[in-house]
Amino acid sequence: MGDVIPLIIKSVKTAVSTIKNSSSRAKKGMFAGVAIIAILASLSFTNTRIAYKVSYKGNIIATVSSKQQFNDALALVENMVESNDVQTVVDEPTFSTTITLSENINNTDEIANAIIDNTDAIVAATTLFVDGQKVARGEKDIVEQMVDARLNGFNVEGAECTSYFTKSITTQSGYFVASDLDDKATLESVVNSLDVVTKLYKTTDVIVPYTSTTQKTNEQVIGYSEVSVKGVSGLNRVTQDVVMLNGNVTSSVDVKTEVVIAPVNEVVLKGTAKTLASAKEKQRAHAAGFIFPLPAGTWRVSSYYGDGRNHKGVDLCAKSGTQIFAVADGKVVKAGWNGDYGYCVIIEHANGMRTLYAHAKQVCCSVGDTVKQGEVIALVGTTGQSTGNHLHFEVIVNGKKPDPAPYIGLD
Ligand SMILES: [Zn+2]
Repeated sequence: MGDVIPLIIKSVKTAVSTIKNSSSRAKKGMFAGVAIIAILASLSFTNTRIAYKVSYKGNIIATVSSKQQFNDALALVENMVESNDVQTVVDEPTFSTTITLSENINNTDEIANAIIDNTDAIVAATTLFVDGQKVARGEKDIVEQMVDARLNGFNVEGAECTSYFTKSITTQSGYFVASDLDDKATLESVVNSLDVVTKLYKTTDVIVPYTSTTQKTNEQVIGYSEVSVKGVSGLNRVTQDVVMLNGNVTSSVDVKTEVVIAPVNEVVLKGTAKTLASAKEKQRAHAAGFIFPLPAGTWRVSSYYGDGRNHKGVDLCAKSGTQIFAVADGKVVKAGWNGDYGYCVIIEHANGMRTLYAHAKQVCCSVGDTVKQGEVIALVGTTGQSTGNHLHFEVIVNGKKPDPAPYIGLD
């Protein structure tokens, strides 16, 4: 009380000295002002009272009218905090006497809140219940974040998502003693064990691969293959209703499929002809009177003339060492190594035609030899530019290489 009285006296003195220094005309009004200040001062004086400042660790947390009021607030705290250990975690406060205006004294609720705010061991927490059973408790923010993250964790970006827990999940917030809270790992394991159903309504662009069809043509030889229509993948926009349990799809229903780009299917042209020789060419070939250059039943055709590789002969697959016959009487003009042809025999026939036999394992004649139709001139091999045992057979007429197939009856 001693602090307040000198303060009021000082105010009045200041007012009076101000008046003394003012001009006489203003004096009357000034006196009225002093009277108001005096009334206000006396009112304040009557509203002052002894109170106590409450400190925790040196910080003033509240002003109480009595120690009893503090104890009432403490009792309130005990009711607010859901624990029997409140007394043990709340610090002993320090009280210091003060004189203050009545309105500066905190009410009991304010004091209780101040105690809670200034006690580290009391925290705002949330209890999690699953189907009404308490399963965990943690700091309010952390629990709420974890529950939200679990609930929305399976949402798919760009899809309309609705999520819900399969069980009833409720929370209750309040004040608790920190030691009554579960640690983060426990909270995480509890929350992450909650089953979540996520329903999605999503639209996805799906590439539709093109299919390939084969079109046969007798205008090309066997082995010829060409893409006549290039395949182009299409694009479908598929809208689906998807249901997931913990991120695993349990059902998916296509609601709508919209064709954005229709695929263009590929068409591959494949040759079926053994030769493209004209009837006239065939007639001329037959007239040459050649026999087949390999024994019956020992061969199969692996490549026809003109199959797209600029192939100027016919390839006849046969075992290594199979006998190769001269297709007609003639004179050997080549018998030996011949570059890419490997071991090779060329026979010149009476009408100026030549026949060529390539990739032999061995030649069985010499340049200058006269050979008879059917005579063994070489053995099948895979020498030179060759990938397997076969006879590469060519017919040469006036320096040109016609399709040899009709010459040896492959038409
Ligand atoms: Zn060949």
